[in-house]
Amino acid sequence: MIATFADLKDKVILITGAGRGIGKDISLALAAQGAHVVFNYRGDESKAMELKEELERAGGRATGLKFDVTDYPAMTKAIDEFTKTVGPISGLVNNAGISKDTLLLRLKPEEISSIIDTNLKGSMMVTQALSRNFLKAEHVSIVNMSSIVGLMGNPSQAAYAASKAGLIGFSKSVAKELASRNVRCNVICPGFIQTDMTDALNDKAKEEYSKSIPLARFGSTQEVANLTCFLLSRASSYITGEVIKIDGGLYI
Ligand code: NDP
Repeated sequence: MIATFADLKDKVILITGAGRGIGKDISLALAAQGAHVVFNYRGDESKAMELKEELERAGGRATGLKFDVTDYPAMTKAIDEFTKTVGPISGLVNNAGISKDTLLLRLKPEEISSIIDTNLKGSMMVTQALSRNFLKAEHVSIVNMSSIVGLMGNPSQAAYAASKAGLIGFSKSVAKELASRNVRCNVICPGFIQTDMTDALNDKAKEEYSKSIPLARFGSTQEVANLTCFLLSRASSYITGEVIKIDGGLYI
């Protein structure tokens, strides 16, 4: 079930890492509400074209922006070109993320850098690149995709957890800094959601994890998309600086 929020129609929203997983379903849910979905990707053009057509079929307007969130000049250029030709972006979902599950002892410095650069610095840089534009837009809402691991920690995920915990401090600061300009910023902390990221777990691990979840299952990308749409919409107009878990009760 896709929750509907009428005010998202024609809202211009950038989603990073929109090509698959949670980012793709957020894009589809927004398109279904008639939003202008500005989907970020870094893969091949033909897949981006397919996604654009899929989003338009779902009912939205769609524009692809190709950049890697760790490539600041390319990202700024793509965002500036879009805002100059189309107009201000009033919604942002910092969703692009990577994980590398390894014991701290084995974690290489370059792996730490790549996780922090993508998950934390990438989100900070996209937000910064858009911050001047946000002052011209109305009812701005930023949603940062963290993780329950950023709240509770997890063995073999030290760098990932640090990047996601950092995102929470960043989001609360942005919420305070930009509130007077009517810009809201909130955090979503998913638990286990069925995507390529969790498909990397073997069946036994999935079964074990499910046992520790009170709702006894992994969540769906559409469930995360519904929460994201709520936070982007004016239905959540008095919520900012908040950290919302969507984890089936895993971290109660
Ligand atoms: P996926 O691995 O399925 O997809 C990740 C997306 O991020 C892909 O579109 C990928 O692009 C993109 N991406 C990765 N690095 C970059 C980069 N440097 N620049 C631009 N795009 C990039 O992940 P999920 O959908 O599972 O996760 C989405 C977000 O949710 C992540 O931030 C993740 O940490 C978070 N999360 C997920 C959970 C889960 O259980 N799935 C739980 C908690 C949090 P490409 O296709 O080019 O690789």
